[in-house]
Amino acid sequence: MVECNQERLKENCDCTYMTCSRRGKCCECIEYHLKMNELPGCVFSKISKDAEKSYNRDFNYFAKLVLGG
Ligand code: SF4
Repeated sequence: MVECNQERLKENCDCTYMTCSRRGKCCECIEYHLKMNELPGCVFSKISKDAEKSYNRDFNYFAKLVLGG
């Protein structure tokens, strides 16, 4: 069984949705967002802090940010 590093991951999480129950549980976070064709907040924060704070996690929005749109 693999040990979960939730407490360490929680400290380094870039997502600003602080009350999310998945915070620090990256496997659950990714699973949750992928089911809705979305990406986790940390991915957006690498491009734009404002984009992350919009809570729009959609694939298409991410692609627009990457392409400079
Ligand atoms: S990216 Fe989504 S699931 Fe992950 S911690 Fe933030 S709000 Fe929760």
